[in-house]
Amino acid sequence: MPEKTVQQPLMRDELLPPSRARRRHLISIADLGRPDIERLLGLARTFATSLDRDVKKLPTLRGRTVVSMFYEPSTRTSTSFELAAKRLSADVMSIRASGSSADKGESLKDTALTLGAYDPDIVVIRHTSIGAPDVVARHVDAHVVNAGDGKRQHPTQALLDLFTIDEEFGGVDGIHVAIVGDVLHSRVARSNIQALVLMGAHVTLVGPPTLIPRGIEALGCEVSHDINAIRDADVVYVLRMQRERMEAGANFVPSLREYTARWGVSAERLTKGQRVMHPGPMNRGVEITPDVADAAESLIQRQVRSGLVVRMAVLYDLVTGGPVSAVAPATIREVA
Ligand code: ASP
Repeated sequence: MPEKTVQQPLMRDELLPPSRARRRHLISIADLGRPDIERLLGLARTFATSLDRDVKKLPTLRGRTVVSMFYEPSTRTSTSFELAAKRLSADVMSIRASGSSADKGESLKDTALTLGAYDPDIVVIRHTSIGAPDVVARHVDAHVVNAGDGKRQHPTQALLDLFTIDEEFGGVDGIHVAIVGDVLHSRVARSNIQALVLMGAHVTLVGPPTLIPRGIEALGCEVSHDINAIRDADVVYVLRMQRERMEAGANFVPSLREYTARWGVSAERLTKGQRVMHPGPMNRGVEITPDVADAAESLIQRQVRSGLVVRMAVLYDLVTGGPVSAVAPATIREVA
């Protein structure tokens, strides 16, 4: 694999205090190399053993503070980050756009500066705008984790999906994953393609031409506009139609009913033994039928469980990772 770049132009010109030069962030899967992913999955496996104990809390991040800022709806990501931080004994502050001063027009920069005054160790942020995590990293002296920015990246989703596939198949290398649906507006698709290809999986994107970005094969995947292409995959990864990210008036599909008829994942379209994944939230009856979602082959609940241990691993790794050297071990984008 090519060496990772560890500097981000957006941040290079900042005059940062020396302490901040050591901050590491998880903003994009592109920041990670294969060894980073293997390390994180290994940590997640270790944390998974704690889930079966009666007392699940570990003292690992006692005295540390995690701030979680969610400017977009979330169920799984926000709860799992919060629980992950609490299971590691960190203090957690959570804010949502609605009900915070964002409602009163406060900018992201000002909110970040305000929260930064409490000296958090880690800030987890989800935002509708691409690049919001980078803005926070410029203004807060903390490690920043991207919990989803617009349609760009959702790196911890990709990591938890790798963890789930690895647990199910005993590895990711050589596994064929078909990602079906609205790739165009999906940060999950972008992060997952990068992560899966990096770990040696074979990825086929399946959907109508209007919902698959032109030239995306450059990421190392294949594209098919025939729903039958999912039949060859070990894993069928179903995406939700991201209606909130479609420009008003744009018609990517004639209607949802037609989308379901042509691209919906139903039992008839699957072959025996294929595993099905979905990042949630599901629109049952649109992109996936309820029987497929609830079948024994569905890994959807396992993904949720993986989310907790993978996010514990990410929080732990950011805080305890060794000193950032000239070539940073790149979980982890160096700010200075
Ligand atoms: N929960 C995922 C995300 O935040 C997928 C989705 O919303 O469809 O991107």
